[in-house]
Amino acid sequence: PTDLNALADEYLRLAYHGLRAKDKTFNATFSTDLDPSLGLISLIPQDLGRVLLNLFTNAFYAVQQRQKQAGSSTSPALYQPAVRVQTRCENGQARIMVTDNGTGIPEELQTRIFQPFFTTKPTGEGTGLGLSLAYDIVTKGHNGTLQVESREGEGTTFIIKLPA
Ligand code: ADP
Ligand code: MG
Repeated sequence: PTDLNALADEYLRLAYHGLRAKDKTFNATFSTDLDPSLGLISLIPQDLGRVLLNLFTNAFYAVQQRQKQAGSSTSPALYQPAVRVQTRCENGQARIMVTDNGTGIPEELQTRIFQPFFTTKPTGEGTGLGLSLAYDIVTKGHNGTLQVESREGEGTTFIIKLPA
């Protein structure tokens, strides 16, 4: 039995400080909107922690990339990088949504991102294994689902659904 809200909160901070450690100029707002009715959920915390850490790290990376793009345009001040995690408990199902206003994912790549070794990151920055591992942990390991909703140039939301 695991407090998923506490896990999400902890790993969001961890991911943010991980990126900040590599790039001191990086700044983003991050926020949580956690459903207290979620209670304790039966799951493997180490595994789900890895999933969340990867989703959050991807999200901060995406806003960092967009910030770099905005920095070279005329109105960098208009872009506010933000990552948000929401949890909900509905109809015996726990939902975790990770939303960023980063680069977004082109539609034609949205199925390929779950394949092992698919990455758009430069060598050394990404292995392309994060999402394929996340997919297996959520679906095979927890009988859940992992979906993506994204618009290029606007942002991305990953949705995890778990039987609660
Ligand atoms: P890696 O992070 O090592 O590249 P992942 O499996 O975690 O591997 O992600 C695969 C690819 O999916 C990334 O390289 C990126 O192109 C895309 N991606 C994942 N999450 C996001 C996101 N939040 N915003 C934009 N692109 C993303
Ligand atoms: Mg990753």
